[in-house]
Amino acid sequence: MPLVKTTDMLAACLKGKYAVGAFNINGLDQPKALIEAAEKIKSPLIVVEPGVIEKYVNFEDFALVTRRAARDAGVPVSIHLSHGLSLEQCERAVLAGFTSVMYDGSKLSFEENIENTRKAVEFGHKHGCAVEGELGALGSSFVDITETMTDPEKAREFVERTGVDILAVSIGNSHGFYKGTPHLDFERLAEIRKAIEPYPCYLTLHGGSGISEDHFKKAIAEGIVKVCIYTEMCSEGRANAIRWYAEHPDYTGNYDTCDMTAEILKGFVAYETKCAEMFESAGRDEVLPDLLNAVPVNDRLGPEYPSAAALNPDFKGKGIYWDKF
Ligand SMILES: [Zn+2]
Repeated sequence: MPLVKTTDMLAACLKGKYAVGAFNINGLDQPKALIEAAEKIKSPLIVVEPGVIEKYVNFEDFALVTRRAARDAGVPVSIHLSHGLSLEQCERAVLAGFTSVMYDGSKLSFEENIENTRKAVEFGHKHGCAVEGELGALGSSFVDITETMTDPEKAREFVERTGVDILAVSIGNSHGFYKGTPHLDFERLAEIRKAIEPYPCYLTLHGGSGISEDHFKKAIAEGIVKVCIYTEMCSEGRANAIRWYAEHPDYTGNYDTCDMTAEILKGFVAYETKCAEMFESAGRDEVLPDLLNAVPVNDRLGPEYPSAAALNPDFKGKGIYWDKF
């Protein structure tokens, strides 16, 4: 079963000097498409549900679909909650079987952020789930980011007092599309890495859409091992949908919608593949055996969770829609 601890995957990244893409989904057809594309290029990946999507895709469904696709895959996969909006939401994701969750307390005071993140870590670790925290608020297309960058000394204190496994940093990165060319503060990143070096904590970069390949490589060289991707991937899917509509003016519904969905997914996986090449996670065969033998964490469904073929003798492929859960 190639469902692995998120932290095992990140440890392999650090050792091999590459980063893994953390791809945010907003529909249940996407995890499988992302995992199949990762298999083609032999890249580990993190499949992510952002907290804001829970009202559209519940955590149990997402975990089931992703775990099933992961189990049949030949690459390591982990399942992550990004920007958990509350402790309760993080707990729901942990109990649904995610292998890591992020509690986002970046808008709280330093002390409140520490207090809540520590609680998320306690709950997560009790269930074998890694926890990510955020210090220093990330910008968005609408918010100035210069005032909210992560302070290295505070990062050290935050990691020490919370026990987080993964730290999201603000070094000039921003969610959504950037208003101009993003300028990442690599000096600050190096200081943060040094400050948290004594602790078993990995660094992640959010707001990957629009950062240049050069800057990704510099960030990875300074210790970034996980990069969050969403906006640009969705944008590629959307562009494909628009093109598909233009090319099919005789659209009548029914199976045409399947074709259109497939085109959207092609956009998602094209950008995923590009990222895996930029982050140098593609073709990482040498780390696969170790990761594949790692004991999965938070495996609430158990290793004996039946395959699609076992549940349905008529099952012919790897599709998710026609399986009976
Ligand atoms: Zn983010």
